[in-house]
Amino acid sequence: MSPKEITKIELTEDVFKEPIDVINKLSSHIDGLKYTKVIQTFVMENRDLNLVLSKQGSDYFKGKIVWIGNKKDDSEGTIFCVDTGSEIKQISPTAENSDNVVLDIKKETIKVSTVSKSKCAVCGKEIEIFDDVSGCPICQTKAHREHLVEWIKAKHSCPICKKSLNVSSTGVIIID
Ligand SMILES: [Zn+2]
Ligand SMILES: [Zn+2]
Repeated sequence: MSPKEITKIELTEDVFKEPIDVINKLSSHIDGLKYTKVIQTFVMENRDLNLVLSKQGSDYFKGKIVWIGNKKDDSEGTIFCVDTGSEIKQISPTAENSDNVVLDIKKETIKVSTVSKSKCAVCGKEIEIFDDVSGCPICQTKAHREHLVEWIKAKHSCPICKKSLNVSSTGVIIID
């Protein structure tokens, strides 16, 4: 009896935390993974690693990973920059938009099973994985970043908890 070969590795918690956790796990399972660290971003030297988005069992997005890095606002989580051949997209799997993230070692593919768990507090549409999301620093309500920033600039308050908010000169939502 030979031990069953492990081909799939759970990456969910690593992706939700830090890019370095993802890189460490990838390095220990994929031979010859080469990257260059530029500040807090890990740039892939070979475009061998794939990223696939899947919803309810069917794949709807696929590309090659260009780099893996931190989120812009330095909150927990990982951004994957992915080249589809026709466009470059930044994808940030979080507990809000993803059920799980799995590495398929043989296919050299990271598969993200996506879900829409929350709706934008401003426009009411489901928040998808490609959307740039922000939240109220008081009640944590989520919304499309652009929508929430515009709302706060107009009303100076959160659309849900109504507490006073403002937008800093750098575009960060702050308690007023
Ligand atoms: Zn919206
Ligand atoms: Zn609020």
